[in-house]
Amino acid sequence: MKILVPLDFSKTAESITKYAEDIGKKLNAELLFYHVIDERNFFTYNTVYTFPEYYPEIKIDSDSEQQIKESTEAEFKKMIESFNIKDINYKIQVELGIPYSLICEFAKENKFDLVIIGSHGKTNLKDIFLGSVVDYISHHIEIPVLIFKVDISKRR
Ligand code: ATP
Ligand code: MN
Repeated sequence: MKILVPLDFSKTAESITKYAEDIGKKLNAELLFYHVIDERNFFTYNTVYTFPEYYPEIKIDSDSEQQIKESTEAEFKKMIESFNIKDINYKIQVELGIPYSLICEFAKENKFDLVIIGSHGKTNLKDIFLGSVVDYISHHIEIPVLIFKVDISKRR
């Protein structure tokens, strides 16, 4: 049994992780903690990267994308390790892309049995029912989804 656990870097990640750990143990599952770096945040960078001839004044290291991935991976690993997960196998993975669509594709392609995801993430909007990433995923993903209701009064 393989469970996909998409996480952002918000305060909510810890309670989602603890919940996934609990359920994962009961189901004798393996967990994959998965973070997608939103590539739309690097739009300017991508433009420069794709058309360097139009931006001669801006020098972009060709390894930048790899560097962003590596530093995020290190940060993500650190966060997950700080949660002290015990007695269950887990892996971590970081990718660059558009979070809501990449999570759906990734879950399908890698034949996960279940997704455990939070009802809210980084954006601190207390009165919305679901965050936009989880909202899209719950409507479009082709495998079962378990939405962990984050206690929004405790979010930061
Ligand atoms: P919004 O992003 O719509 O402004 P939000 O941040 O509160 O609001 P979501 O982004 O939908 O809500 O986050 C809900 C859950 O989706 C998170 O707790 C996390 O489990 C997952 N998630 C969100 N963004 C990512 C991401 N970039 N990579 C992996 N998982 C993510
Ligand atoms: Mn979000």
